[in-house]
Order: sequence, then structure tokens, then C-alpha cells
Amino acid sequence: MERVLALLKSRGVSKTDIIECVYFLQRPYHETLTNDKIIYYVDSVLNKREVQHAIYTGIALDVAVEKQVLDNKELEAIIARDDGLYGVDEVLAYGICNLYGSIALTNFGYIDKMKPGIIGKLNRADHAIACHTFLDDIVGAIAAAAASKLAHDKE
Ligand code: MG
Repeated sequence: MERVLALLKSRGVSKTDIIECVYFLQRPYHETLTNDKIIYYVDSVLNKREVQHAIYTGIALDVAVEKQVLDNKELEAIIARDDGLYGVDEVLAYGICNLYGSIALTNFGYIDKMKPGIIGKLNRADHAIACHTFLDDIVGAIAAAAASKLAHDKE
């Protein structure tokens, strides 16, 4: 998990940023929710191999677009401008959510719409400098998955 955390950090996302997104999603349903409680669930999601692979894949594509090294320049331009009709960034994020059931998908839809904290920050980043087309959805999916696991444990 340290490798994946270091990679996220290098792209401007800390574990605390993800914890804050989980808090945003779950706060209305828990009277005594603390960051310490949330850490366990974020770690559990980040420890899954499939989740790590999704993170590596999404960030690899973001970085390749920043470096302008994709062979397909049309695709590069679509990802660089975070084209709303592209959609593959969300599909990769669904891959994470699907491991955690339908609540994770609902959570993802909500957080993707509200864009709290780091997700909004990534979304507003200057496209000429940085590409976070995949990363914002990946962070949303990690938070949505952790929130879903937390919700299931509460039942
Ligand atoms: Mg995106």
C-alpha cells in the first residue's frame, strides 16, 4: 500500500484528502464518526490489488497525456481537455465501486456531482499544466468504496 500512497501523493492526493471525502459522504449517517474510524476503511480499500491496479492505470494515462507521449493524438486531446463525452475515466472508477456493491456506485454518483475537497481541487486544475482526468474519478471511487464498506459494517 505504501507504493500506491506515494504515487497518489506525487499527484497531489494525500490519505487525509481521501478520508475527508469519506467523512463528507458518511457524516449524515453517523453521530460519532472520527477520522480514526475512517482510516481503517480507506486502508482496506487501498490494500485491494484490483484497486491498486485501477489507480496505477488511471494515473499512468494522466501522466502520459501530460508528457504528450500517446501515439493517438486525438485521444490525447480528448483526455487532456477532460471531455465530458469521453467517459472511460468513470468506467475505470466503476471498476473500483463494483467491488463494493450498489451503495458504492450511488456514493460515487453523489460525490462526483458534489466534488468536495480534493476532488473539486483536481477538477479545477489548469488543463494546460496538469491532467487529472482519471485521478479525480479514482479518488471519488476510493472514497465511495470506503464509505460503502463503512455503511455495511454499521448495519
Ligand atoms: Mg474525470
